[in-house]
Amino acid sequence: EDRMLSSEENREDAGIELSLRPEHLKEYIGQTSVKENLSVFIQAAKLRNEPLDHVLLYGPPGLGKTTLAAIIAREMGVGFKTTSGPAIERPGDLAAILTSLDAGDVLFIDEIHRLSRAIEEILYSAMEDFCLDIVIGKGDTARSVRLELPPFTLVGATTRAGSLSSPLRDRFGVMSRLEYYTESDLKEIVKRTGEVFGVHVSDESAEEISRRSRGTPRIANRLLKRVRDFAQVDGTSSISVETAHRALELLQIDRLGLDHIDHKLLQGIIHIYKGGPVGLEAIAASIGEEAETIEDVYEPYLLQVGLLQRTPRGRMVTPLAYDYFGLEDVNRA
Ligand code: ATP
Repeated sequence: EDRMLSSEENREDAGIELSLRPEHLKEYIGQTSVKENLSVFIQAAKLRNEPLDHVLLYGPPGLGKTTLAAIIAREMGVGFKTTSGPAIERPGDLAAILTSLDAGDVLFIDEIHRLSRAIEEILYSAMEDFCLDIVIGKGDTARSVRLELPPFTLVGATTRAGSLSSPLRDRFGVMSRLEYYTESDLKEIVKRTGEVFGVHVSDESAEEISRRSRGTPRIANRLLKRVRDFAQVDGTSSISVETAHRALELLQIDRLGLDHIDHKLLQGIIHIYKGGPVGLEAIAASIGEEAETIEDVYEPYLLQVGLLQRTPRGRMVTPLAYDYFGLEDVNRA
């Protein structure tokens, strides 16, 4: 399903990514405390002539974790290799990647929470001692050999830090949580993207797009692209607030940036479960979405804007959610 608001990366995004991606920490907008910390750790590692400690970046999809990992490599002046948890199926896959690294390189593992336990265990010693214990042969002739690895920096990214095993988590010297971007940060990102695209985005239209991008640069850039299509058809290279409005209306993105799945989720809880509490699995089944997708992609933003609440007994909508849909809260006395 190709949702407009999906913060999952799609193929269309991938093509332009290179030109859009900031290359230095200074050009990376927002995430001030993450940036400040990383900047110190990077400078210190460089002064000591050592690779940077392993870094875990966590937070909702589309907030720029991959971008930041690439910036870390660039600031350290080292190579950058990327892979992902699901792509490393067998120990040999991991061994092949690790032995291909040059000293000091950054290895980026996206969705690191999806590594199998067996692979995680191999990774522990690689991270800690820069060596790899692998078993060669089978049965009676099997023997374990130890391979020395060049020192490297692992940058792991995950939407759910809680799903990492604690031994893996403990091996990261730096853990940074990326937050949803403020509207003014997003506005800056939209303006910057506009420049890369060669279109003029008025302040007002950049604000309009930012407001509806649920704190997520990837969504902001994608909305800008669609709005630009409307402007282009109108024969102009400058994006007015009228064009932005019209495009966003047609794309059915509401004033908070919520789309039909968010609506289905909130209204499902309201209408089927009397506002909750309801278990994640139950509501997922009722609206026909994956529990994991709800938890990683939709829910974090709904929690952030205060439409949804997590309680020990399950998910509940807030009084604000009733107001938002112009419904009467049956639970309100
Ligand atoms: P994830 O957190 O899921 O790894 P991501 O790192 O893949 O997300 P990107 O796809 O890198 O997110 O970011 C989406 C786009 O937004 C990129 O093209 C990047 O140029 C831009 N972007 C992300 N964060 C920033 C930022 N802080 N400043 C400027 N541009 C940004």
